[in-house]
Amino acid sequence: MAGDDFRELMNAMADPLVACDGDECVLYLNPAAERLLGWTLKELRGEPFARLVPERLRTFDGHSFLRYLLGRRRALSGRPVRVFLLRHEGSELEVEVTVGTAMGGGGERIAVVLRRPPELPDYTDEPLERVSSAVHAHAPHPPGSAGERAYQLVFENAPLGLFHFDTAPTIVACNDYFVRIMGSSKRLLIGLNLLTLQDEAILACVRDVLAGRHAYYEGEYRSVTADKLTPVRAHFAPCFGEDGQVEGGVGIVEDVTEQRSAEAERNRLFREAQEAIRVRDDFLTIASHELKTPLTPLSLRLASLERRMERKEPVDPTLLRHARQHLVRLAALINDLLDASRIEAGRLALHFEPMRLDAIVERALTTMDAERGQHRIDYSHPEEGVRIRGDPYRLEQVIANLLENALKYSPADSTVRVTLDVRGDFALLSVSDEGIGIPRDQQEQLFERYFRARNVSITSYGGLGLGLYISRDIVERHGGRIWVESEVGRGATFYVALPLLSAANPTPPEPRPATDSTHQVH
Ligand code: ADP
Repeated sequence: MAGDDFRELMNAMADPLVACDGDECVLYLNPAAERLLGWTLKELRGEPFARLVPERLRTFDGHSFLRYLLGRRRALSGRPVRVFLLRHEGSELEVEVTVGTAMGGGGERIAVVLRRPPELPDYTDEPLERVSSAVHAHAPHPPGSAGERAYQLVFENAPLGLFHFDTAPTIVACNDYFVRIMGSSKRLLIGLNLLTLQDEAILACVRDVLAGRHAYYEGEYRSVTADKLTPVRAHFAPCFGEDGQVEGGVGIVEDVTEQRSAEAERNRLFREAQEAIRVRDDFLTIASHELKTPLTPLSLRLASLERRMERKEPVDPTLLRHARQHLVRLAALINDLLDASRIEAGRLALHFEPMRLDAIVERALTTMDAERGQHRIDYSHPEEGVRIRGDPYRLEQVIANLLENALKYSPADSTVRVTLDVRGDFALLSVSDEGIGIPRDQQEQLFERYFRARNVSITSYGGLGLGLYISRDIVERHGGRIWVESEVGRGATFYVALPLLSAANPTPPEPRPATDSTHQVH
């Protein structure tokens, strides 16, 4: 501190006073401050001023507390700021402080003048009954009157957080709902000076109220008394005395956690619905293209046939066969669309009967023969027949779809291997190709409606992304399971497991984990 003259001057002052250096370390405190704070000069000298600040308010970085107060002082145009300080024995003390700063020979000096606010009881040391009698002093009815009781009841039971503050501005009353929102206790909240809060938006509201204006706050609020983060909406209003002066304010706080989560849920559903609409729109575009594709070659061939017949020329049977192939393709696409919508509506009928799976595989292979082009198809199966209970028509559809995909997504001169086997209580069919394969992250999605792998362009392969969706529904309704193992560029193997006729309600085998996805194809 400066010279002894000043020290004596400070000692003579009745107001408690603390002097600090520019780093907010204590240089000196006068006897009045020693008495008020219970600390001696010896104990505090050189210590940061923040040692006098309760932990819960010490979100400042320790050294910037006084600067924070200096900032507040400017905001309040010089009015004292009410804060809590820690007495030596640990109790909290509410004081009004005025902070000033000046440059001296030894650098910056900060003077802190402390004053006990005479009008407020020391809430922190008082039992709650005393606190509430202090609250009564602010209530609009005389203590104990019927009006006062009614006011108290409304205040306490309102389904919103309510609090009342004076011009300091210190909270003088709050209801339980408010305490719950803040997550702390009345003891900590009542007596809290709102200017010690960190939230600039709240401070702006408080300032507005003290200036006689209403204010509104909405956002995530972190309570200083319990460090609880809550999304809130708060309305603030000034309270005017009879002389028209602002006597303080009230705050109405609403915890909007539930509304927020309901809103988040609504947004999520909305986004999902939008996504579903987008997927459906994309699908309609793709489906229209797919359905149109066979029409052009079909009509060309029919026109050519018509011309020949008009000229009485001999009709080339290949023309007719090609025309029919395009019609069959069109019919298959339409059937897939119909089946998918039947599945959606829960109306895809299956007709179960004892049947031989090997016979159905052979039938699918024979039908496919015309389409296999230069592909080699290897088929292996057990000597004896494989008997299951199933819908032969629908299972042929499943097998045909797997074979078509294997041909469609693999090079023309490669081999497709079809294997039928018996594993425990199950018939296990696999269709393996040497084609483009399927990225791992898409292997589950393949079986979803409309799913077409992203690496497959529309024009090169065609397809509606419905075949595997329909196949999975059919296989699972047989009590079976369908899955794929694949690596990009190394082909894909689709497996279908179906319960044997002899088996009673067996559990379908688990697909092997994806890491095991070795291939029969090499
Ligand atoms: P699509 O009619 O489009 O082929 P599917 O439901 O049968 O519809 O197949 C869905 C998607 O799965 C296909 O678009 C393709 O990307 C992928 N896929 C199916 N089988 C194979 C396979 N054997 N090899 C590589 N990708 C395949």
